[in-house]
Amino acid sequence: MGVELEKIVSLAKRRGFIYPGSEVYGGFSGFWDYGPLGVELKNNIKQLWWRMFVQERDDMCGVDAAIIMNPKAWEASGHVGGFSDPLLACKKCKRRFRADQLTGICPECGGSFSEVRQFNMMFTTSVGAGEEATTSYLRPETAGGIFVNFKNVVDSIHPKLPFGIAQVGKAFRNEIAPRDFVFRSREFEQMEIEYFMRSPDWEGSFEEWRGEVFRFIDASGIDRSLVHELEVAPEDRAHYSQRTIDFEFDFPFGRKELFGLAYRGDFDLSAHASASGVDLSYLDEQSGERFVPHVIEPSFGVDRTVLALLTCAYTEDDLGGEKRTYLKFNKAVAPIKAAVFPLLKNKPVLVAKARDVYTMLKKGIPQIMWDDNGNIGKRYRRQDEIGTPACITIDFQTLEDGTVTMRDRDTGEQVREQIGNLISQIKG
Ligand code: ATP
Repeated sequence: MGVELEKIVSLAKRRGFIYPGSEVYGGFSGFWDYGPLGVELKNNIKQLWWRMFVQERDDMCGVDAAIIMNPKAWEASGHVGGFSDPLLACKKCKRRFRADQLTGICPECGGSFSEVRQFNMMFTTSVGAGEEATTSYLRPETAGGIFVNFKNVVDSIHPKLPFGIAQVGKAFRNEIAPRDFVFRSREFEQMEIEYFMRSPDWEGSFEEWRGEVFRFIDASGIDRSLVHELEVAPEDRAHYSQRTIDFEFDFPFGRKELFGLAYRGDFDLSAHASASGVDLSYLDEQSGERFVPHVIEPSFGVDRTVLALLTCAYTEDDLGGEKRTYLKFNKAVAPIKAAVFPLLKNKPVLVAKARDVYTMLKKGIPQIMWDDNGNIGKRYRRQDEIGTPACITIDFQTLEDGTVTMRDRDTGEQVREQIGNLISQIKG
């Protein structure tokens, strides 16, 4: 039996990871706010992803496009016409549901449903004043901003095929039924890649990115045994896709999509080229050949990664005869890498020495926390609950021989360590 969602939601709120959006006004369905620990966790995930897929590869680059785009782009991509979910309304209680998640009668009141109608999930917004105003959309995915910049990237930095463009940022979907904590929200973040290549190479690129998705799963600390690949059947794939894999994860509420990987042919570039009238082909300078590249799209949700990591990390055990809860984050994603304590708060020599160690560490590793509240046991519990891998205590022996105690979160074991070794130990 895995962890229940309520325990994760409660710890996330109590310890400053994730709060209900606009909570003082009673919340706002489908919106969540990340607190001090949550924003660090989320930034670590995004930085890890960016480093692995953009900075450490020489065939990748990034963009950061505007969230609001010319609405013509969303017409060309098919989102204005087809980005919709089937909506059902209960005739009795008036509640709305996604038709594909239901059978028969209203699960709330037993009433009967109206006819199914298609509900477009894009949020509209009005750009400009008065009669000049144009209706546009908050982007429902980050991929669109990559395709419309394909020509700019090619013309400005001249990448050679195969190459990819990555983008990380907010996406918005007016989900009919937001649910399951941050799994299905109306505002979320995505990390997406469009990897462009020659069409005969698509199978090789697809396999490569399939491996890369697993490399990220391992590096972030998501338990591989909870991830399952689902080959999307031809009748469920988009018409232009010859292969799609959903990477599903065993969330506390069931097995659901975490990430996606799709071969999209040349659908997107061709659609934008024909709607805009701008040539979006690629010229191979060596052969003189001109063609529209094909594309593989690995798509990652940041918030679903946060939830998968919380699910994997949440652990309850007995330590020294006491029950405790801790998050066993790996060092790459842990919001705080180590905490520094003076053994006693009221001994100025210990506090001064601990401050020196803290300042020295913080210069090398910014995500270090100071804690002198309550007794050592309480401090350990607090750090365990936010997933801090190491706690460092400065005591009287430190003043004599320059060693500190370093406590391991998972085992509770304490060892004496030279101050000079701390940075390499924490980074380990
Ligand atoms: P679902 O079927 O669960 O609605 P989807 O197939 O529509 O998801 P994609 O369009 O493939 O999702 O989006 C890419 C990724 O963005 C998903 O794999 C997921 O991680 C994330 N994502 C999509 N919708 C949401 C949402 N409403 N809230 C949080 N993350 C989302």
